[in-house]
Amino acid sequence: MNIAKHLDRAAFFFPHRPAVSYGQFEITYRDLDRMANRIAGGLTGLGMMPGDLVGLCAPNSVEWIAFYFGVLKAGGIAVTFSSSLQNEELQLLLDHSRPRFFVTVDAKLDQIGNLQDRAGIEKIISETGETSLRSIIESGKDSFRTVERKRDDTAAILYTGGTTGTPKGVMLTHENITVSSHNVAFSEHSSEIDRSLCFLPLNHVFGQIHIMNATIFSCGCLELFPGYDLEQVLAKTASGKVTKLYAVPTIYTRLLTLEGLKEKLGNVRYCFSAAASMAAEIVRQWKDRTDLTIFEGYGMTESASAVTYNHYYRHVIGSVGTTVPGIEVQIRDQEGNQVPEGQEGEICIRGRNIMKGYLNNPTDTKNAFWEEGWFRSGDIGLLDENDYLFIVDRLKDMIITGGENVYPREVEEIIYSRSDVQECAVVGLPDREWGERVTAFIVPRPGNEVSSEDLKTYLKQHLSAFKIPKRYVVLEEMPKSPAGKILKRELRKQFSGEDR
Ligand code: ATP
Ligand code: MG
Repeated sequence: MNIAKHLDRAAFFFPHRPAVSYGQFEITYRDLDRMANRIAGGLTGLGMMPGDLVGLCAPNSVEWIAFYFGVLKAGGIAVTFSSSLQNEELQLLLDHSRPRFFVTVDAKLDQIGNLQDRAGIEKIISETGETSLRSIIESGKDSFRTVERKRDDTAAILYTGGTTGTPKGVMLTHENITVSSHNVAFSEHSSEIDRSLCFLPLNHVFGQIHIMNATIFSCGCLELFPGYDLEQVLAKTASGKVTKLYAVPTIYTRLLTLEGLKEKLGNVRYCFSAAASMAAEIVRQWKDRTDLTIFEGYGMTESASAVTYNHYYRHVIGSVGTTVPGIEVQIRDQEGNQVPEGQEGEICIRGRNIMKGYLNNPTDTKNAFWEEGWFRSGDIGLLDENDYLFIVDRLKDMIITGGENVYPREVEEIIYSRSDVQECAVVGLPDREWGERVTAFIVPRPGNEVSSEDLKTYLKQHLSAFKIPKRYVVLEEMPKSPAGKILKRELRKQFSGEDR
């Protein structure tokens, strides 16, 4: 088994179909496969051995994908880092994973050069560095026989989003990624004629597995962008080329502020959101404006993406759907006992998509599992009588105020139902009297002003008194992670200690 065989297979079935389109450039499966073969040969020539770790740190590009598969073909393990990491953050993750080779772009090279200890890296490969990307590609041959790996050999190490703390290195096996690619392709009825928008970063589980691996698995084409540029992305969809739109909730909210949205989406047939909770109101507005449904999925780095999917067959707004084939979900309390149907508890997951463990971190790995491979997601949710999963919130985001539990998401959903709000985040800030004080951060829609009195009156009509934020802070922008999630821990850090 080797997930690089998904590329081998696509190149065999559809050599002349486009694999990746990037700017004006389009590469067929045959050529992408050849490029990856050359890289596999080039890296092997440099002394790379099966099982070696190769770091990748660059914005999305065709070369990124070719190197990823080149490393895998040669039997290596791809360790993928966000290209927006700052020096110390990158240093920390390099020290943690200690890859033998490191592939990056020149723009990053200065940063790497400055790192005092290169974390044991043997060779840095970049556009014009000591070993160039080109020289690797040129030293290999068009054909390369993909190295066999075992099912539970690690294929890639992905760092978690870092939403709740320092990112953890998740070891995903060839089997984990194969199972997930298959489940995504199955759930979305994907085929070789699909063209999937990919502006989300390829280092993160959403971009790398849900979009890239699943698209290559189904032999479709990636409409790749180095990052999220609204105008460029919409120019592409408007041209009628894109059939699938993948984004995080904050991007859907932003798109909803645009005129003529339906026309701008061209031939998009499928819209998908994951990574953070999507307000039901946004799904309704999207449907009204575009006649398209936003299908929501739920997953995490540790589950190699999809755990549940809201299916075509029976879409339920507000739910993240039912489990993908072969994956089980149980709701448990903090002692590990299953709770009765309809009750809230921690979402626990078991299946062939669940990670092998956290890299170099046996304690966190041990704490992340109950017996028999049940992974603890750290998210609170409930299952209804039809096994639809509803996400309540993250365990770490729950607010305890005056002894009462408040789930920020419930309050956020109501704030989102107002037309003057673009983004909001409800957070618990330390408070002497209450333990934690419910605080709402608001980014108004362009051209609107939001008054806290007005908001308070509105919320009083919908929520019990203890859930109503005691303080409202209007922001121009929310702090976000590279994956586009609102960073509540940044808000807590910045605003804790103010007027307690
Ligand atoms: P870290 O683990 O470093 O704090 P992270 O959990 O954000 O970061 P990811 O693995 O990228 O890292 O994200 C997975 C998490 O994203 C899930 O555990 C869940 O909290 C959240 N999530 C994913 N999909 C959804 C969804 N559809 N609705 C609500 N939350 C979601
Ligand atoms: Mg997490």
